[in-house]
Amino acid sequence: MACGKRIYRHLFGPVPSRRLGISLGIDLVPHKTCSYNCIYCECGRTTDLTAERREYVPTAEIIEELDDYLSESPKLDFITFSGSGEPTLHSGIGEITRFIKGNYPAYRVALLTNGSLFFDKSVRDEVMDLDVIIPSLDSATEKGFMKIDRPCSSLKVEDIISGLVELRKEFKGEFWLEIFVVPGLNDTKEELSALSESVHRIVPERVQLNTLDRPGVVDWIRAATHEEMEAFAAGLEYEGVEITGRPSSRSGVESFSGDAVECIMQTISRRPGTVEDLSSVLGMHPNEVNKYIQLLMEEGRIREKREGRGIFFVSADP
Ligand code: SF4
Repeated sequence: MACGKRIYRHLFGPVPSRRLGISLGIDLVPHKTCSYNCIYCECGRTTDLTAERREYVPTAEIIEELDDYLSESPKLDFITFSGSGEPTLHSGIGEITRFIKGNYPAYRVALLTNGSLFFDKSVRDEVMDLDVIIPSLDSATEKGFMKIDRPCSSLKVEDIISGLVELRKEFKGEFWLEIFVVPGLNDTKEELSALSESVHRIVPERVQLNTLDRPGVVDWIRAATHEEMEAFAAGLEYEGVEITGRPSSRSGVESFSGDAVECIMQTISRRPGTVEDLSSVLGMHPNEVNKYIQLLMEEGRIREKREGRGIFFVSADP
């Protein structure tokens, strides 16, 4: 890798996260192994659509990488199970969490999840030691769920909502629910009313509304406007709804690597590339590349171009 860091196969970052501060990511499954194929996914199409839980990558290998990284006492706000797939598909998530909590108890551990597997009690049991769980729920109707999240055929939205209700009752840490707002799909009267009812059943501490930052898998969806986000928030009729915003300057965050930004700029100026291209050329995790791409887009240094193979990023310099 051109950016001077030891290469870990399963850890990425730390990256400046809009909700979790300086966050070290742990990716538990191969790229785009997920129980959903969301139309808005920034990581591209799901290539392994599955609800099967197993040890996708060796648990011992992840623990060894974590031990190596954490033994240097890095400054982190969170260690986060995230990545470009669904972390709870990995059957070792409980063991890995117990390792961190047993050996490095000062670190807080979070989980970003699509929430699809918590109807299974054994999955809920494995996440009890976490500090923060952020599951998503984009629709509470089977029709909206199929359109937005395009799940594995065995998953039913009512089971998923019941799983989230149970998890919320059993889990002692912080529980924030994320809803991705897709104008025209989940902001209709019927959708909002079903979502509102489910949110009142789940009772999360916070509901965080998000919308498209960058092009998704399909080109016919757009970001919700601020007014649409406000109307959505009001339509939920629930205390504690937040519209998540971009941090004003990610480059001011301690974990932000100027080297990584320049590596990406140099690569793009030689040859436009997709997130996957940049990830493989630079040896950086796709999520890490995504964070820097976001900053460069906000700064107007690069622009995107949709082509047959996906979304390419090109230098905005003439
Ligand atoms: S659940 Fe997450 S990783 Fe899976 S397709 Fe949806 S946005 Fe992408």
